[in-house]
Amino acid sequence: GVRVRIAPSPTGEPHVGTAYIALFNYLFAKKHGGTFILRIEDTDATRSTPEFEQKVLDALKWCGLEWSEGPDIGGPHGPYRQSDRKAMYTPYGQELLNKGHAFRCFCTPERLEQMREAQRAAGKPPKYDGLCLNIKAEEVTARVASGEASVIRMKIPAEGSCDFNDGVYGDVSIPWDSVDMQVLIKADGMPTYHMANVIDDHLMKITHVARGEEWLASVPKHILLYRYFGWDAPVFMHLSLMRNADKSKLSKRKNPTSISYYSALGYLPEALMNFLGLFFIQIAEGEELLTMDQLAEKFDPDNLSKAGAIFDIQKLDWLNGRWIREQLSQEDFIARTLAWASENSRLTEGLKLSQSRVSKLGELPGLAGFLLSSDVGLTPASFAGLKTSPEETLEILNAVQVDLEKMLEWNVESIDAELRAVADRLGKKLRVVTPPLFVAVSGSSRSLPLFDSMALLGRSVVRQRLKTAAT
Ligand code: ATP
Ligand code: GLU
Repeated sequence: GVRVRIAPSPTGEPHVGTAYIALFNYLFAKKHGGTFILRIEDTDATRSTPEFEQKVLDALKWCGLEWSEGPDIGGPHGPYRQSDRKAMYTPYGQELLNKGHAFRCFCTPERLEQMREAQRAAGKPPKYDGLCLNIKAEEVTARVASGEASVIRMKIPAEGSCDFNDGVYGDVSIPWDSVDMQVLIKADGMPTYHMANVIDDHLMKITHVARGEEWLASVPKHILLYRYFGWDAPVFMHLSLMRNADKSKLSKRKNPTSISYYSALGYLPEALMNFLGLFFIQIAEGEELLTMDQLAEKFDPDNLSKAGAIFDIQKLDWLNGRWIREQLSQEDFIARTLAWASENSRLTEGLKLSQSRVSKLGELPGLAGFLLSSDVGLTPASFAGLKTSPEETLEILNAVQVDLEKMLEWNVESIDAELRAVADRLGKKLRVVTPPLFVAVSGSSRSLPLFDSMALLGRSVVRQRLKTAAT
């Protein structure tokens, strides 16, 4: 039967792009009576965390995309977390070495950097030059025995091209000389994404791989690995990425991209799935409002466009409004609202900040409402009461926008430190710099503590509000 998977890497706030790819796989399984599984791809130990993994699980559950096998519930092909499978990959690396499909590479990071530097200078794309390709077997054994660090790289055909069929792109041909001799096993024994992904898709009996188009160029490596192991490759479908209205790749710099943003603001998961599902079906105007079952019924993977799915937030807002008004009974609406409020961590955190600042509960919406709305309704008048001149206000908003991008971490302490640094640089006191930010972020000069509010709202919302305020 059909077996598909979503294979997120827990390296950041769960992305609506992940929900979009997961929904495709979920509907594909539903349509074919197949199985949808969740696999956590955490081979990048420096960027993966258990907290982000939990957030991925929570976010996909919130979306209503339930999996039949996964790290939390197990299944016949577990474990479903790659870091728990580390030992399983080792024999496969050895097998490729034995068969002569892979080789040990002793190049140091410094040498590789020099090599890439020279390639860049010559205007060539960076690619391993094959220095370790022909080291004699005895020498390899001796160097490994002496404890010298090495990785395992795959061999790539010297000429010709990799020709394959993609469910979305059709016939694709990628010349082998553009394919890098990919590292398969790192010096610490951990596989890379490519190695673990192919082995797991095989062992987990995945029949169809549907993922973002950014992986299309990796297919030759994957197909070659399937061939080296003597396994059948799954069917590949590379979905066009979601784009901003200006056609650029949807990115947190232009739109909020985390699933938690949409849940915190009170989008209904049904509406978000409805919105994302419309990218996978053809329907006439007036028939946009669809439940998950209706989406699965109309789902047509043969009719996908390469053009890119435009993330039109106005359309999402419109659909969400229709879901609220047309699909929920009054009782449902009230129950959902209360559940949303009680499970909303932004609201809870906002209330903690509010307690010392109100004398009646009725003042809370006015004080903390900006944490839950997508727009704080700024007008030039919002800034009129400030002591800073319009020019000074703009200078401050712009300076903070620039600095915000340089911050490595986003929390109360780092925001505090960064705003102090901005104030220093501008030669102003912190208490001069903060009032315009209060207004930009909350819409009002009397609101919750600035640093906490900024931390709670998240970088992409703050970025958006500062940008709006500065224009
Ligand atoms: P950004 O440009 O916002 O920094 P990113 O590529 O760094 O985005 P990641 O956090 O690396 O985002 O992506 C997390 C997951 O979301 C990945 O699995 C990726 O495939 C998916 N993803 C990211 N952007 C998009 C997009 N525009 N459309 C579909 N999926 C996406
Ligand atoms: N871990 C990869 C990602 O986060 C999965 C890609 C794939 O589905 O093969 O996008």
